[in-house]
Amino acid sequence: MPRIRLLENDVVNKIAAGEVIERPGSVVKELLENAVDAGATRIQVDVEQGGTELIRIVDNGSGIEPDDLPLAFASHATSKLKHPDDLWAIRSMGFRGEALASIGSVAKVTLQSWAAGVAQGAEIVDDGGKLSPVRPWSGQPGTRIEVRNLFFNVPARRKFLRTTGTEMGHITEAFTRIALGFPHIHLKLTHNGRQVYDIPPSATLADRIVLFFGEDLRDKLLTVEKSHSAIKLSGLIADPSADRGNARLQYIFLNGRCIRDRTLAHAIQEAYHGLLMTGRYAIAFLFIEMPPDQVDVNVHPTKAEVRFRDSQALHHFVLTTLREQLRHSDLTASMKAPPTSTSPLPLRPSPIPAMQPLARGSGVSSPPSIPAWGTSARVPWEKPSPQEVWSGIVPAADSSVPPVALPTTKQPSPAPPDDPDSEKPVRALQLHNAYLVVETDQGMLVIDQHALHERILYEELKARMLAGPLEVQRLLIPEPVDLPPEQAATALEHQEALAKLGLEVQDFGHGTILVMTYPTFLAKHAPAKLLRRVVEHLTQAGKAPAPEVLLNDMLAVMACHAAVKAGDPLGEEEIAALVARRGLVADTHHCPHGRPTSLFFSKHELERQFQRV
Ligand code: ADP
Ligand code: MG
Repeated sequence: MPRIRLLENDVVNKIAAGEVIERPGSVVKELLENAVDAGATRIQVDVEQGGTELIRIVDNGSGIEPDDLPLAFASHATSKLKHPDDLWAIRSMGFRGEALASIGSVAKVTLQSWAAGVAQGAEIVDDGGKLSPVRPWSGQPGTRIEVRNLFFNVPARRKFLRTTGTEMGHITEAFTRIALGFPHIHLKLTHNGRQVYDIPPSATLADRIVLFFGEDLRDKLLTVEKSHSAIKLSGLIADPSADRGNARLQYIFLNGRCIRDRTLAHAIQEAYHGLLMTGRYAIAFLFIEMPPDQVDVNVHPTKAEVRFRDSQALHHFVLTTLREQLRHSDLTASMKAPPTSTSPLPLRPSPIPAMQPLARGSGVSSPPSIPAWGTSARVPWEKPSPQEVWSGIVPAADSSVPPVALPTTKQPSPAPPDDPDSEKPVRALQLHNAYLVVETDQGMLVIDQHALHERILYEELKARMLAGPLEVQRLLIPEPVDLPPEQAATALEHQEALAKLGLEVQDFGHGTILVMTYPTFLAKHAPAKLLRRVVEHLTQAGKAPAPEVLLNDMLAVMACHAAVKAGDPLGEEEIAALVARRGLVADTHHCPHGRPTSLFFSKHELERQFQRV
């Protein structure tokens, strides 16, 4: 029987390094966090060969006393926890006392530091776990750390390093997170002697976002700020026209620490539901401040994930706050003149410097124009200067208006008088069998007939479904639908969800599916066609989405299917019915795929364009 032995310290550190230090970017992350914890206001990062040759971080923080230098490299040695209970009240980025010990065990680290109040600085070297004696050092106040020969004694790790470009990408990401999380810190990054970023403390969060992710975001950022009991949410989110193909531009900072959290990511996406096309992701930079005892940050070696005490409540708080802001900015976009200056962004507890042009930015000093929905690049005709031409879109109606029985527009019905613009008869015109031009009190509206009808049907269907089971029609003779095997399997797999939508289906074997019922509401549309479209969508969706998401998606597909198309000529009454209903549903401004349904040109805007004012 092999005997049980305690592992050597050196081995323990290497094991820890395996968790904490995966690549050069992880070294940069840990060292940057230490500098932040030391209260640095200036941090310089120099990197050579993607960090495999050299990582040097110099800060002007509080420094380390000479006697403490060997301790900095001891495992589980930290200056940040003094009492066991402190573990539940963590305010610092670090606290595990593992990073330096880990890095020292897999590289050659020179640590030089001059602490405030000490006569002279001192240095120490940790070469793969072997510590040098402490020697005097004469340098600047603060700390300077050089990491060379990373993974020299862990060939497996070294082998897994990617190209310089990839490693530099990870380093830049670590740098970006600190730069966004601490907008008062002056940060510099160089690679092989060339400057990559120089971010002055005057650069606000918005400036930093634009610097890292592109100037085109400048005009699309909306401020979020709200408190709820002891929790504070602030930050910037982008209007839906600035979406992305992945969720990478969703940054969440919890008490300054950048985290990944599925619940919060879900809350963000939900807030944009119906405003983004399927497969598109919102852009959001959110800062959550909460008492440390409401969250456990000690569940992940690099603290990238946390556990909230009440994640449901937080989900709700984030979702409602974002949604409110999105709705609000949309409403006001067409009503208000552009603000003349950015409102300051209260983010970190530290004072936020006033906005100033960035050293590297361009055109930064121009005031941001109001975020205008409906100015997305998907607008199907030419636009000389989006922000100037249309400053907004239709105000969303009060969502508390109950849904009315809305037949498809092929059956005209009298216009209900709920809409403020419909007190007098609406003057509307169909153009190109696709657009409706409408005169309103404040100006002129151009409606995409398909997009608006789709939105109306979607809201209708949703309201009906929420109110209870959809009314269905049972087919006397079930209708067989032949589907490719994969799609037939998908249909059967989602039998329950389909039934909720009024489509009861059964297996008939050999890829044939029987449709037993269809929603009465969509009676005019062949059930077989409807099923095909929904199932096609399901098959493309890939792995099973959450049931609510799925239902919403299917509703959107059904609405799209049933709505009038571009190219359908409409009669006068049909036009009137459609226009009148735009006020009856919440979110009429975007179709369920996220395209705008209408564009609003205010009288003032028109006058300006024709240079009458
Ligand atoms: P942790 O950050 O979890 O405490 P580390 O291994 O990262 O553990 O650092 C160990 C200790 O070294 C820290 O607690 C801190 O006292 C000291 N230290 C490390 N880097 C710096 C720095 N840049 N400035 C001042 N002190 C530092
Ligand atoms: Mg640390």
